[in-house]
Amino acid sequence: GDYENSDSAGNNFKVVVRVRPPLPRELNGDKRFQNIFRIAEDKRITVSENLSALDDPRAEDLSSGNFSTYTFTFDHVYSEDSNQADVYNNTARDAVLSSLQGYNASIIAYGQTGTGKTYTMEGEQAPKLRGIIPRATEEIFDFIENAVSERKKFLVRASYLQIYNEVISDLLKPERTSLQIREDKRRGVFVEGLSEWVVRSPKEVSGLMQRGAMTRATANTKMNEISSRSHAVFIIIAEQLEYLDEDSSNGEDRRGQTFKVGKLNLVDLAGSERVRLTGATGRRLEESKKINQSLSALGNVIAALTDSKGRQHIPYRDSKLTRILEDSLGGNCRTTMMAMISPALESFPESLSTLKFANRAK
Ligand code: ADP
Ligand code: MG
Repeated sequence: GDYENSDSAGNNFKVVVRVRPPLPRELNGDKRFQNIFRIAEDKRITVSENLSALDDPRAEDLSSGNFSTYTFTFDHVYSEDSNQADVYNNTARDAVLSSLQGYNASIIAYGQTGTGKTYTMEGEQAPKLRGIIPRATEEIFDFIENAVSERKKFLVRASYLQIYNEVISDLLKPERTSLQIREDKRRGVFVEGLSEWVVRSPKEVSGLMQRGAMTRATANTKMNEISSRSHAVFIIIAEQLEYLDEDSSNGEDRRGQTFKVGKLNLVDLAGSERVRLTGATGRRLEESKKINQSLSALGNVIAALTDSKGRQHIPYRDSKLTRILEDSLGGNCRTTMMAMISPALESFPESLSTLKFANRAK
């Protein structure tokens, strides 16, 4: 089918797609490697199972024919040639800066396991390969270094949590598990008992990331693949306190202070692969159902928020993930959904399902 339509969501919602390069195992497999996609104008992506259809100049018109050829339009489509800096600058930066102006923001990586969610969010050690989280923290501390003064003070805190099987755990205090979500006027939505760490430099943040990664890795050895089956949420809270002029230029007495607080949620979702329910039993089956439920709850919330028909019930309460993100999606919040896909033919069904999910979020 043809999924092209105009931007229905406001500017605060961005949906982008990133296609990762083929991996050695795909290039060296039994069959000759072939891409399933074409990208046009950095915005349109056409995917097809029928590879010759892709090279047909009428490819986009074939969508209603017998070939499984689909075209989607997004705010941006990143090809395998795009680099980490492009992705950060064009897609994540605005959300990061808005959190320094007192708004909440969410950057969410969605996709099948092995498509580049963690690569995009965290990246690798080499400076060029750093992902969104290290770049965001650098930007935040650079901003603070330039803005801080006698009258302007900042405080940055970070937390790192995991949701596995609808159970929330603190990745920075592994003994804290089964945490509950609460809400109050002062703090908004928060996870009770989640540790918050005051951070003063990008280095301190990367130390926390590493500690969290260790917690995830330890759990992995106990139970297979937890990290691909759980959501990881890295939260940065930036507070800004400004003492106002005693004598402002218009002569008004404005003694006092302003306080801004912004929250940035950086979300590496559980793999979206449709878990084969047939054959799965017991814990595995329950777990699979919960992953599917929480990803579809996220899809439903975003679809309701971006629905051009206006206000309707937003089903935040359908999952822990959407509850945690409740005050950071929609409204004044910048929300960026990044959908990752593999270029390989063998992944076509999952890639198509990811593109459909992302398309619904527009
Ligand atoms: P996920 O977190 O979605 O399971 P990963 O981020 O672990 O996937 O990526 C899977 C593999 O693909 C890793 O080896 C990673 O280095 C590689 N990869 C993913 N995206 C890219 C990219 N854009 N450029 C180069 N390598 C990538
Ligand atoms: Mg990952």
